[in-house]
Amino acid sequence: MPNTYQPDQIIRPEILALSAYHVPPAAGMIKLDAMENPYPLPLALREDIACLAAQAPINRYPDASATSLKAILRQTLAISDDTDILLGNGSDEIIQIIAMAVAKPGAVVMSVEPAFVMFRMIATFVNVQYVGVPLKQDFSLNIAAMLAAIEQHRPAVVFLAYPNNPTGNLFDEAAVLRIIQATPGIVVIDEAYNAFAEASFLDRLSRYSNVLLMRTLSKSGLAGLRLGFLLGSSAWITQLEKVRLPYNIGIMTQLIAEKVLHHADVLSQQAETIKSERTKLISFLATIENVEVYPSKANFILFRIPAASQIFQMLKQRKILIKNLDGTHPLLTNCLRVTVGTPDENAQFCATLHALLTETV
Ligand code: PMP
Repeated sequence: MPNTYQPDQIIRPEILALSAYHVPPAAGMIKLDAMENPYPLPLALREDIACLAAQAPINRYPDASATSLKAILRQTLAISDDTDILLGNGSDEIIQIIAMAVAKPGAVVMSVEPAFVMFRMIATFVNVQYVGVPLKQDFSLNIAAMLAAIEQHRPAVVFLAYPNNPTGNLFDEAAVLRIIQATPGIVVIDEAYNAFAEASFLDRLSRYSNVLLMRTLSKSGLAGLRLGFLLGSSAWITQLEKVRLPYNIGIMTQLIAEKVLHHADVLSQQAETIKSERTKLISFLATIENVEVYPSKANFILFRIPAASQIFQMLKQRKILIKNLDGTHPLLTNCLRVTVGTPDENAQFCATLHALLTETV
């Protein structure tokens, strides 16, 4: 066709410069790369879900405000009446909704580095400036640098994951509160890993009018459903709701999430098992010479190991998929991240890593 544009003539240069978020193929692998809960739901619950699916009116649009799902969320998490809920197709979508809503010319979105990569990527998608403030060498907050950056850039939004991905640690609570007090815009506390953290800002939500709290069901066992939620005052949630697409939460997600939340104890028991496996995995990694293992309050563990990229490849050849972070940020040189799997998967990971290290010396 004559006179048609090529992609590079109409796509924004910052999009042309991006690499798409990479999801590696995992068929036949022991999958310890994506912070999924490795356990299925009990059979009886899966059968209930099958009945729900069979009867679901999928010819109709879903409930646009997901009233009954929100009600059970409110009940399960004891969310107070003065707090509003916004639902997203995964918390990724909520990050996008927030970023779109604040994307005025000159607006700044801020986080720490290294952080969850979608904070930066989504800022780029919606054409707002992203400022990433480096963490300290031990991955704690550099509070002086954060406060200086907040003062300089006056961010519309600061995203802080609590615990942080990919480092696994919880930031110091007092430091987070100082950031909340210093930020002119909103501070989104991203509690994606809350199920494993034993710490939360939920009970302080109503005390700080500029705080929004984000969670997801992905890490605690429902990654395939894609359900994230944002909690905050109606002043903020009402505005963000305008940016949410009307039927972003499909009927299957609404029905199944609601059903599972009526059995939330199943997910919390699985989280307990994951936490005790995390302890074992950390102890194993700590016994390996030259490996530095970082404390984790999430369902994954970050560790530093000589020749990390090579180790990652060799594990992959042996059908064990973890996450290679080497080269993604100066603070992550030689770092790998392993998600806590089932006892059997963890044992295979440990045995394979041990064998590789004894082979290579
Ligand atoms: N926040 C953090 C800190 C994450 O690590 C992730 C997933 N890796 C997400 C948000 C997004 O999760 P989801 O879209 O599955 O809810």
